[in-house]
Amino acid sequence: MFDALSGKLTGVFDKLRQRGALSEADVTEAMREVRLAMLDADVALPVVKDFTTKVRERAIGREVMDSISPGQAVAKIVNDVLIEALGGAGAVPLNLAAAAPVAILMVGLQGSGKTTTSGKIALRLHTRERRRVLLASLDTQRPAAQLQLQQLAEKARVSSLPIVPGQTPVQIARRAMETGRREGFDVVILDTAGRLSIDEALMAEVREIRAETNPAETLLVVDAMTGQDAVNTAKAFNDAVGVTGIVMTRMDGDARGGAALSMRQITGAPIKLTGSGEKLEALEDFHPERVAGRILG
Ligand code: GDP
Repeated sequence: MFDALSGKLTGVFDKLRQRGALSEADVTEAMREVRLAMLDADVALPVVKDFTTKVRERAIGREVMDSISPGQAVAKIVNDVLIEALGGAGAVPLNLAAAAPVAILMVGLQGSGKTTTSGKIALRLHTRERRRVLLASLDTQRPAAQLQLQQLAEKARVSSLPIVPGQTPVQIARRAMETGRREGFDVVILDTAGRLSIDEALMAEVREIRAETNPAETLLVVDAMTGQDAVNTAKAFNDAVGVTGIVMTRMDGDARGGAALSMRQITGAPIKLTGSGEKLEALEDFHPERVAGRILG
């Protein structure tokens, strides 16, 4: 991930550093190259425009131009603006401050990695934070989905809600919260059904489940490999149901990185976690400054 973008940006800044003194035209030329590199990496156009405008505004001024190493100063500005675009300094943690059992609602399209991510979050909360976690699959669309989550729960050594055939997603959600309360669970993770594309029925179902369970987090799972589509999906979900955070999966793939870079600005929601593999341990916090460091080499 980010390989091509990183290579191109490193090239631009190496050139700037070698120049010594910088003119406004040098900065303009560098920003033209940055713009092309970002567009090639599938970064959304408004994000690219905003990015290059901000860098230019901050770079073109006596302070930078007359500094001892202007190329270095511009590279520092790019780093700062990139961190801002990625969501600002520091990872945004999961908000689990509500009264137990705290509900986490997992939403997203089919195949995004939602069920796997539910298992990953369960494992993390169980092992790192010693929370009692109950996993519940509300996916009545795919017959195997509830079994898949049950198996993940076993692997993560957390509990899963017993499967009762014939219940609707809302009924399962209610039963999960009741079980959570009755049996003293700290966190109930609700894995909703995904569909192949966004439709009103899916959104209506999510809204109904949310009204029933009052989740502290509504986490949208998106696949980084789908590029601009991931951003469009996130915007549609956020507009329709409101999400509190995004989990971006398949960061281990060779995605060009545009989705990660565009997400915050286009959707307004922070990327909170990333998935980097099929294993349950492959879940990381999203640290904008570390990601910027990877991109800028
Ligand atoms: P769902 O339909 O959204 O619930 O998707 P699943 O959780 O069933 O995941 C679909 C496939 O993607 C499975 O084969 C997962 O192992 C795989 N997967 C999920 N997250 C990641 C990830 O971060 N990296 C990789 N390489 N594969 C992932």
